[in-house]
Amino acid sequence: MKAFLFDMDDTLLEPVRPSPLLEFKRRWGLPNDHLVIEGLSLLPETQREIARGAFHQLEREVAQKSRVRPGMRAVLRALRRAAVPTALITNNNPEAVQIVLQRHRLEFSLVLTRADGRPKPAPDLIEQALAYLKVRPEEALFVGDSHADRIAAEAAGVPIVFLPTPDNADLHPRLRTPQELLAFLDNTRPSAIG
Ligand SMILES: [Mg+2]
Repeated sequence: MKAFLFDMDDTLLEPVRPSPLLEFKRRWGLPNDHLVIEGLSLLPETQREIARGAFHQLEREVAQKSRVRPGMRAVLRALRRAAVPTALITNNNPEAVQIVLQRHRLEFSLVLTRADGRPKPAPDLIEQALAYLKVRPEEALFVGDSHADRIAAEAAGVPIVFLPTPDNADLHPRLRTPQELLAFLDNTRPSAIG
């Protein structure tokens, strides 16, 4: 693979449970099957800005408490050594992403957030990354944890693998640990794993 694209929450970062996003949706009565940012736009105007502020605050707090998924740092180092470009592609907001990157001293060739285009499950951010990194969809690998990641990657034509969380056992192909990503450095196809 010529480029590795990573989701941030619950993929690059260690999964947080109970899920802060689900808790937030419950607290504000937002639909479970929508992104929070979509659900917010369904709220009455009087509540919308308050809820949006609360959501930003939550994203900031989660970023400040975040931990890198064990094994991920070694993978990013190996990719850098191999001169393989990496992109971070997240529905999170740019401020929270900066907190994460600074807190953990992580670097990516490209960072795209929901401020840069339609969020996943739309393929837009992934397509932007392919154009910026000058790689074809099939030359990239998306590493994610969610259905939104799957839909976005498939729509962009990018192969995807999943890292485990407590509630994504239905998503395949899945890796047990980030270290297994290194097998894709020598062009192993995702279909080659279980
Ligand atoms: Mg995620």
